[in-house]
Parts: sequence; structure tokens; C-alpha cells
Amino acid sequence: MPSRATRVPLLSNSPGTQRFLTVYRFGTAGARPKVYMQAAIHANELPGVMALHHLLPMLDAAEKDGKIKGEIIVVPTANPVGLSQHLYNNHLGRYDFNLRENYNRNFLDIGDAVVAKVKGKLGKDPAQNVALVRKLMLKEVAAFQPPNEPQFLKKVLMAMSVDADYVIDLHCDTHSSLHLFAGASPRDAVEDMSADIGSVATTVGRPDAIPGIMSFSACNMAPWLKLAKAYPDAALPKSTFSVTIEYRGQADVSHALGRSDGANLFRFLQRRGAIGGDPGPLPKAKCKLTPSWGMDVGYAPKPGMLVYVKDRGAKVKAGETVCEIIDPLDPFAADCRTPVKAVGTGVLVSRRRDGQLTYPGQVVFRMACDKELPHRIGKPGTDD
Ligand SMILES: [Zn+2]
Repeated sequence: MPSRATRVPLLSNSPGTQRFLTVYRFGTAGARPKVYMQAAIHANELPGVMALHHLLPMLDAAEKDGKIKGEIIVVPTANPVGLSQHLYNNHLGRYDFNLRENYNRNFLDIGDAVVAKVKGKLGKDPAQNVALVRKLMLKEVAAFQPPNEPQFLKKVLMAMSVDADYVIDLHCDTHSSLHLFAGASPRDAVEDMSADIGSVATTVGRPDAIPGIMSFSACNMAPWLKLAKAYPDAALPKSTFSVTIEYRGQADVSHALGRSDGANLFRFLQRRGAIGGDPGPLPKAKCKLTPSWGMDVGYAPKPGMLVYVKDRGAKVKAGETVCEIIDPLDPFAADCRTPVKAVGTGVLVSRRRDGQLTYPGQVVFRMACDKELPHRIGKPGTDD
């Protein structure tokens, strides 16, 4: 057992076995701002785990120096169930083997229940209203009866995150540049994070767009958006920041990257008042904020070998070819190479690795474009 951590037992899934979630806590319980951070809810996405591997000793040292101002909770690997899923020498941590669902979906949607329970109870004091809402949120999560181990896990995670001021979920893509999905989080904090972590593409949603999927990031934000919609005149500020950071591609795990990513997160936490000390000037941002419905998603129209023309981080214009799908059976056919083209103009944030076979309907790239794309409006901004 890690010496500094707490272990939270999960629901046993088979006789004689039990898994545990490992949780690190810094600062004072109940102090603000409260920060909750986790990595690898998709269990085979390890760059964020590496960032936390380097951040945790920094937080430990800051605690010993009395510099933690708020409360910080860190879960270095948020999905012990998915961590165990090896098959034929591959670690497959994105979907649950048994329930066959994406681990970053179907988190508990407590928004409607909180909207109903808060009715008639909001006063004139915003701080009191926020405190009441957070209490009700925690109560809703506590009342949930999880039917299985993954839902039990999700309940444990939400019980630590729903009342936080900052919720930071660390993921990665297949082959990708560092990017940030910020949804409806407050723009000033998003600007800070985007610059501090060196994001090359940061997307933000329409402020009133309630997420259509219950990802971890969404389950912490959606209740506030539903409350704002139900009680537009109430003294109830939207009181969370809930984002997903995509720490490049799955293979981008190194001490050099982990060290700088950890240090950048530490500096962001200083800048937002969770840790004392001078964060220094805000680094120059590598991108402007772009709309989440401006995320162009390229789908393979047919099966074949994938060959990319553009690399991650490339600026791509509408109509340009991002990759080709090659029919390996007939190099003589006129249509043996099928281009997949960008619809919008923007930055290619993610793609698959070279040398892979694709199939019809598979996502083969994502591009952050400056403007909303009509065919993407209403679709999830994060991974499909
Ligand atoms: Zn992920």
C-alpha cells in the first residue's frame, strides 16, 4: 500500500477478490478552493498518470512547507477495473469487458434531482446557495445504489468531485497534441489553464449547452447548467470548473513530459489560489479558445490501410486531405486510395498512428476549428 495514500475498497466483483482505489489528499478537508484531479478513467491512457507521478511529490513538498491553501484530492489511476483488462498481450482499458460500455460514459446525472430539491430554498446570498447546492449534490451521490463494480467506482469518484471548485480529468488520445476540452467552465480559468499547460487546442462549449453525454467532466458540470436554466434569476453562480485534458498520445509517456506536465499543473494550481507561492507570469498561450462544436471529426468511409498526409498539430484548411485509406487488394483500381478531407479549417489535434487498418465509421481524426461547424452542432465535443 502506498504510504501516503488512502485505499478505498470497491465492490467485489468475484469471490475472493477485491479492488481498491488509491486516493491522495492534501491541505485541509473543507478548505477552498477544492481541487479534484484524476487520471486514466480510460485505464490505458497513461501520460496523465505520469504527470501525476511527478506532481504528487511536488504537492507533498508543498504540504510540508504549509503552502497548500485549499483542499486537493488526487487519484493517480481512477479505474482499477480497467487496469486489469489485458487481452492477448494488449491492455484494453477504454471499454468495460463485462458491461461493454465506455468507462467515461454513464456517470450519474444528478442535475434534475438537485433542481427539484432546491426549489423554494434559494435565498439572496450566493455563497449560502452554492453551499446548499453542493450539500444536495453530495446527498444525491450518497443515495445512489450502484448495481455493479464500475458504477460503484463511479460513485466513489463523484463523491470526491461533485463539490469541488476545480475538477481536472486527465486523458490522452491515440496520437495527438496536448489539447483541452473545457465545456462550460469559467473562461478566465480556462484561459489560465490553456496557457499554463501549453494546450495547442482548447475548446469551450456554449455556456448554456447541457452536455448530451455523462462523461466524468460532464457529470460535475451538468447540474450547475441545469440549475442555471431552471432558476435563471437566482443568486447562484455556476461554481465549478470541470475539464478534460488530453495529454497527447498513448505512447507519450516519459519522465521529461511527465515532469513538465506535473510542474505546469502545479503552477496552474498556484495561479488559482489552491497552492501558495508565485506562479510567475502566465506563459503565452499556444492557441485561442475555439468552439467545441467546431471540432471536426473525420470518419473512415471504407475499410483499408490508413496513411496520413498531415501530422498531429498541423494547421489544415477546409478541403485538404488529412489521410488516405488504401485498398490493399487492388492498387490498379482508380479508387484504390480514398482521401478523407477536412470539413473545417483548424488544427489537427488527434489522429491514429500510422500503419493501422481502419473500418467504416471509425474516427480517424479530430480537428479544432475556429468556427462552429453546422454538422457538428449538438454532438459531443469530446471523444465519440
Ligand atoms: Zn480518455
